Amino acid sequence: MITKTLPLRQTPQWQREWAQAAIDPRALLTQLQLDPALLTGAYAAARDFPLRVPASFIARMRPGDPHDPLLRQVLPLDAETVPVAGFGIDPVGDAAARVAPGVLHKYAGRALLTVTGACAVHCRYCFRRHFPYADNNASAGEWSAALAHIAADASIHEVILSGGDPLSLADRRLAEMVQALAAIPHLRRLRVHTRVPIVLPSRVVPGLIAALGSRLPVVVVLHANHARELAADVNAALADFRAAGWVLLNQAVLLRAVNDDVDTLADLSEALFAAGVVPYYLHMLDKVAGAAHFEVPPARAEALHRALRARLPGYLVPRLVQEIAGADAKMPLALQP
Ligand SMILES: *Cc1c(COP(=O)(O)O)cnc(C)c1O
Ligand code: SF4
Repeated sequence: MITKTLPLRQTPQWQREWAQAAIDPRALLTQLQLDPALLTGAYAAARDFPLRVPASFIARMRPGDPHDPLLRQVLPLDAETVPVAGFGIDPVGDAAARVAPGVLHKYAGRALLTVTGACAVHCRYCFRRHFPYADNNASAGEWSAALAHIAADASIHEVILSGGDPLSLADRRLAEMVQALAAIPHLRRLRVHTRVPIVLPSRVVPGLIAALGSRLPVVVVLHANHARELAADVNAALADFRAAGWVLLNQAVLLRAVNDDVDTLADLSEALFAAGVVPYYLHMLDKVAGAAHFEVPPARAEALHRALRARLPGYLVPRLVQEIAGADAKMPLALQP
C-alpha cells in the first residue's frame, strides 16, 4: 500500500494559486492567443485597479475569443479611462453607511463587515474599485471596535462577512471571527458574500468549512455571472458547502456583452440550480467610474427580466434590483412607463 504524507506546515495549494494569479494583461492575452491590439489602454486602465485573475478562471475562457464573457469581466480596457457623466466613485453611499471601522449598517437587522480589502479576482465593474477598503476593513487591527459595535446593537440579527472577499482570510482568522460573532447572543445568522468559490474553488478545504461553523446557520451568497463560471471543480466545492447544511444563493450583475440576453441568463439559472444554488439577485450595475461600458439600460433590463420570468420557474428567476444610496433595501427596478 502506498500512503501519501504531506509536510505539516506546507503553504496550502489555494494560497499558491492565489499568489500566482495573472496580473499582466500582456501575458493573459498571449496565453489566450489574442491580438495584443486589445492591450491599447489596458495598462492605463490597470494602473489604479490592476488586473487579477486566477488560473482556474482563465482555464474556463475560450482561447482566441476576444469577446469571451469571462475575459470581459476581468480584462482592463481603454473604455475605463473615459469619464462618463453620472458614474462616480461611491455610487452606493458606502461612505455614509459606515458606523464603525469596517462596519456598514444600511439595512434593518443586518450589518456588513468588510473584513479585508483583498479579492482573488478583480472584476472591472466592481463598485469597490475606488472605495478605500484597505483603510476601512475590520481586520486592520480594529476588529474589536467592529465587534463591540455589533454586540452593542441588539437590532442586528445577521452579520455579513464581506470585503474584498472574506475567504481571502486564512482559516484560523476566519474561525476567530466566527467564534467571536457566535458569542454575541442577538445574532441569528452568519452570511458570507464571496466570489472565491467560483474563481478559486481550491480555497474550499475542510478547514474552511470547519472555520465558518458555529451555532449560527450559514448562508453563502456567491457571485457568478455566466453559466460557464460553474465548472466541475466549482460544483464540487459547492457540494461541500451543501453537505455542511449551508444555504447557497447567488447574486449576479447584469453586464453588457457578458450576460445581457435571455438565453445566457436562463443558462446561468439552470447551472446554478444544478450546483444547488438558488438565484437571489440580478443587480443593475452600480454607476461606478470606469464601468460605464457595462451598462444595460433599465428598459432593456426590464424586458430581459420579463422574458426570463416567462421562461423559468419563479424560484429560478433572480430579483432584478438596483442599489440606491439612502434606500432602506435593495430596490426592485422601477417598471418602465
Ligand atoms: C446588500 C447589502 C446588504 C444585504 O442586503 P440583502 O437585501 O439582505 O441581501 C446588507 N448590508 C449592506 C451594506 C449591503 O450593501
Ligand atoms: S470579487 Fe466582488 S468585491 Fe472583489 S472585485 Fe469582484 S465584485 Fe468586487
